[in-house]
Amino acid sequence: MSFNNLGLGANILNAIKDAGYTEPTPIQSQAIPAVLNGTDVLGCAQTGTGKTASFTLPIIERLSKGRGRARMPRSLILTPTRELATQISENFVTYGKYEKLSMALLIGGVSAEEQQKRLTRGVDVLIATPGRLLDLFDRGSLLLNDVKFLVIDEADRMLDMGFIPDVEKIVGCLPKERQTMMFSATMPDEIRKLTKTFLTNPTEITVAPPATIASTVTESLIEVTPRSKNKALRELLKREGLLNALIFCNRKKDVDVLNRSLRRYGFLSAPLHGDMAQSARETTLQKFKTGDIKLLVATDVAGRGIDVESLTHVFNYDVPLHAEDYVHRIGRTGRAGKHGFAFMLVCPEDSRYVEAINKLIGHEIRSESKATQQKINKPQSTTRQGKANSVTGSSLTSQPKTVPRPKIGKATPSEPEPRNVRPSPSNLRDNSISETKWGGPVPAFLLKKTLIP
Ligand code: AMP
Repeated sequence: MSFNNLGLGANILNAIKDAGYTEPTPIQSQAIPAVLNGTDVLGCAQTGTGKTASFTLPIIERLSKGRGRARMPRSLILTPTRELATQISENFVTYGKYEKLSMALLIGGVSAEEQQKRLTRGVDVLIATPGRLLDLFDRGSLLLNDVKFLVIDEADRMLDMGFIPDVEKIVGCLPKERQTMMFSATMPDEIRKLTKTFLTNPTEITVAPPATIASTVTESLIEVTPRSKNKALRELLKREGLLNALIFCNRKKDVDVLNRSLRRYGFLSAPLHGDMAQSARETTLQKFKTGDIKLLVATDVAGRGIDVESLTHVFNYDVPLHAEDYVHRIGRTGRAGKHGFAFMLVCPEDSRYVEAINKLIGHEIRSESKATQQKINKPQSTTRQGKANSVTGSSLTSQPKTVPRPKIGKATPSEPEPRNVRPSPSNLRDNSISETKWGGPVPAFLLKKTLIP
């Protein structure tokens, strides 16, 4: 299959060629002709399948004739997160480079004034998160009666984030005569129901069954305790010899705590979460893309739109509370045919969440044997260690600033976390543990030092 047979015009084909794509991905070869034919589309596809281009390309083609009028966008793309919105806008820039389409990005964290000015000039493509869009709509900065194309991207994520009422309100303000494309990595019942009200006779495209894991990702589960988690992660990071990695935490404050801990141990890490200013988030993402930052510690929401080519590893520092998040998280690696590795650190109390994940993905995540897990502490010459030396060695780390680098392989007792790590209910719970999986017994004075800041 070639892009030439899908009905796209010369300008777009040239832009695709410039992007270096030789053939459409399965979702592109099915969705592009459908959208060009004016059909609604329901796409069940995870990130990494090329789904963004599957709606961006035909929308550009259809919009190439005509111009947006003041405050009346001709197409609307709704996304759950700012990062995803930014990523989609980059796609429009890349594929629309030979067209003269105007675009506005309505996302929280950037000046509403500038966005308003653009809207007033008239835009063809409006990419927005639901909250910011409703803000401007309610202020009268925006009219939605000329929207001919609506895309609802990552609908399951919208559901998780509580955006569905906003989305319903927005859809209620759009003309009935429009073309709608809805994408979701998973298809829970609530989303299925919504498709009936939002879409008319959609072409349904499923490029991978709901919640499947790409065959290019090797998954592993590592058993830890709350107290040994940070050390286990550090040892894994070194053992794996990775190029770059995303590390997911469930909560924003844990992102900051873990990031500080990693930096104290000399790792080139940075945090990414919704409490950061938009400019700081963008700078961080940019540095991650260019390799100035090797490890990105993120929440699910912030990690959603991250599209970094050749991301080798994803670490679930926390087991996700929603099984679908696991699919999204590890879908960041193993993209475009490359191989990826996904690790999940699992504490005994996480077992029910792990069960839910196993059920959703339809297989049991392999647990590394206890023996292997214990070896994580040793500078052994396994294949992976060899890879570590040859690929990155110490490139993940900068020189330590406040805490000396841990000596791998030294038969130390469980290391205390850096002193200013505050006790959390989970590590307090674990106070009774007298032996760790990562070393010998924990001397009482170390426990005390760790838990009482
Ligand atoms: P997405 O699923 O939209 O997040 O896209 C995942 C990645 O695949 C992005 O980095 C795209 O640039 C890339 N991509 C999209 N379409 C193609 C294609 N036809 N051939 C190769 N790479 C592609």
